Amino acid sequence: MSSRVFDYIAQEEQRQQTTVELIASENFVSADVLRAVGSCLTNKYSEGYPARRALGNQGRYYGGCAVVDQLEEYCIARWKEVFHTDYHVNVQPHSGSSANLAAYFALLQPGDSILSMSLSNGAHLTHGSPVNFSGKLYDMHFYDVDENGFIDYDAMARMARTLRPKLILAGASAYSRIIDYRRFADAARETGALFMVDMAHVAGLVAADEHPSPFGLADVITTTTHKTLRGPRGGLIFCRPELAKRIDSAVFPGTQGGPLQHVIAGKAVAAEEALTPAFRTYIHAVVANSRAMADEFTAMGYKVVTGGTDNHMFLLDLTDTGLTGKQVQEALDGAGITLNKNCVPGDRRSPFQTSGVRIGTAAMTTRGYTAEDFRRVAHRIDAMLRTLSPAENAADKRA
Ligand SMILES: *Cc1c(COP(=O)(O)O)cnc(C)c1O
Repeated sequence: MSSRVFDYIAQEEQRQQTTVELIASENFVSADVLRAVGSCLTNKYSEGYPARRALGNQGRYYGGCAVVDQLEEYCIARWKEVFHTDYHVNVQPHSGSSANLAAYFALLQPGDSILSMSLSNGAHLTHGSPVNFSGKLYDMHFYDVDENGFIDYDAMARMARTLRPKLILAGASAYSRIIDYRRFADAARETGALFMVDMAHVAGLVAADEHPSPFGLADVITTTTHKTLRGPRGGLIFCRPELAKRIDSAVFPGTQGGPLQHVIAGKAVAAEEALTPAFRTYIHAVVANSRAMADEFTAMGYKVVTGGTDNHMFLLDLTDTGLTGKQVQEALDGAGITLNKNCVPGDRRSPFQTSGVRIGTAAMTTRGYTAEDFRRVAHRIDAMLRTLSPAENAADKRA
């Protein structure tokens, strides 16, 4: 037995239990999710899908799948229930990025145009970064936020009319306001584009009715399961029934091999948990705590992008302090507070430095933090920032 590996795991467990986790994309799963993910299901190969004549699929390519067939069907049924939807569900994507890869693969040809949110203002790498497959394979165009940090829906609709993109994409990793999916759906319908929503960050809020739902509006919806949904690391794809075959074959055999049945089990447990009243109470607290903390920073004189938040996270714009996001991230790491640097709208610093930090409340709310606890952390962060000197990064500013 490798004592070295288990020693690392013990050290990481210690780190997780003794630091204040404010990374907006992280959370702490339940003991049941951990048990499912650490189970014997990791041993099983099950390429293909549970056979369903209605979908015309070929079933599995391996024997011994009787149990995992039921498990995967059960997982699918629970997620339909979570989002009150009859959309088709694929629970096999290994991650949010894999889900997006498969969705594009199903809907587009290389070179097709996509209209998505600009990366510097909150979108994900898979939404067209030049270093990512999305930016390399597709013709990317970007809508932006206005001077106050809100999505500029009118400009997005105008771009859609001129570009006539094949796909319009909504969703972000660092956007603290409600996303009006209807505005995107209208632009897509008017211009004949397909409409895809990547709800990776807000999926837990959608499940608990704390954010408008994209179901009924989007043709395809992707998400991660490990952020506000508080499940194992992984992805899900939902689509209108008429796209089911294309989505399923884009996942397997298009872009993945054998599904991770231990993770699918974890996803099923997470869905069961998301269906409980306790989950709704939890998500409600996540949003209330995010508001409380953002308001506290505003009261202390900090600039919060858009002036506040509607969801589980917000961005602090440090431009006026002269501090970089990198500097703040590192200083807080040393003080046991974990968050990440993030570009802010109009940022003049590189993504390696940034002029902002992203703060999320999903993880520590799971740990039982109240609004008062989050306000106290805001003051600890303020005290730490006061000890930092902006002068040292004059050079970075030019870089
Ligand atoms: C986190 C995230 C992803 C990617 O998830 P991974 O599981 O890390 O690949 C995709 N889209 C958005 C909007 C995200 O926030």
